[in-house]
Amino acid sequence: MVHVRILVGDIESDKARKLADITETFSGGIIHVTIQQNFVLPWVPENALPALYAALRDVDLAYTAADTFEDITACPGADTCRLGITSAKGLANKLTVDMSNGLSEFKDMAKNLKIKISGCPNACAQHVAANIGFQGGSITRDGRTVPSEMVFVGGSLLGDDTRLAMPLKKVPTRNAPKVVKKFLKLYQQEKQGDEHFDLVMKRLGAPRLKEELEEFTHIPSYEEDPSFYQDWGHEEEKFELQQGVKGECAGATVEEKIPTFKDAEKHLERARALLHHGDFKASMLESFHACSASGHVPLYTKLVDPFTPEQTMWEFENMLVRTGEADQKWLDIAARLKDNINKEPTEELAEEILQIASDIHSESQRIQINLTQA
Ligand code: SF4
Repeated sequence: MVHVRILVGDIESDKARKLADITETFSGGIIHVTIQQNFVLPWVPENALPALYAALRDVDLAYTAADTFEDITACPGADTCRLGITSAKGLANKLTVDMSNGLSEFKDMAKNLKIKISGCPNACAQHVAANIGFQGGSITRDGRTVPSEMVFVGGSLLGDDTRLAMPLKKVPTRNAPKVVKKFLKLYQQEKQGDEHFDLVMKRLGAPRLKEELEEFTHIPSYEEDPSFYQDWGHEEEKFELQQGVKGECAGATVEEKIPTFKDAEKHLERARALLHHGDFKASMLESFHACSASGHVPLYTKLVDPFTPEQTMWEFENMLVRTGEADQKWLDIAARLKDNINKEPTEELAEEILQIASDIHSESQRIQINLTQA
């Protein structure tokens, strides 16, 4: 199997056509796409390797270090994804440059580690399963928006030893390359023998690691350093959050509809009418849709746009209740609603779910006011 490294997962169409021709010659026209955003050509005869290398080099696709620390995974991010907050590719490109200037001394030691960068919490680059992961976000400083990264550390995809990374701290995106260097220095200083990076990080623990990152959380004023207010790869642009933008992410294949409380109110009205006419099952379903339509409004403001009512209630719990923005009494609301609407419909149950829908509507309006005033 021959791995062809595709820098940050992007390949131009003319190179892709040439690569298709190469696969005809060397791997029977078969090519696989990997989760590291590279290509793999299977079943290449060993004696064909020099000729294959030369063919790849001729089309500028013979980059070394596929699937190693240097080979960073990044999602489309804010460049082309409508949900993206920061430019994952911009940061990945910056780190790729640093690999030969600033991070080169660590390349051998860190060879098997992975950096993965997602432009938002949806984690399409799987940053939660990376040794060092970044998740795009934003911070407000003096009324200006600063691109930021939530830093994750210690995650791996290692079969039975697969681990989720620990979320640590939000730092301005400008400091993300310094964070990578800091982790590598820590690893160099603290590792005992052949100890794996993840185990060292686990041993040091989240409180210590958060302390180590503290120096990178400072955001200078715009006058002191305007670069903190720009994203990597977008140095000439003002950073701002965008909504309602179409993009290449799978989410864009469904119609974009901005959720409003009016939608929720229509469902509530219908649920009341159906209850009045004794159609308890239909009333319960309308109430469920009212819950989801209400919760969708503040979620959308946080750039979370779930596809189904079930996902919306799950995200409501995850992104609003668990973060403390919604009342803790809603902690198990997704499972509670799912459970209730599958029960035998009765008047009492329909009234109960309607009351829940009405309360979630008020709660979502309260959260929305807080979010828009923040
Ligand atoms: S939705 Fe996925 S592809 Fe889009 S920015 Fe978020 S993580 Fe990246």
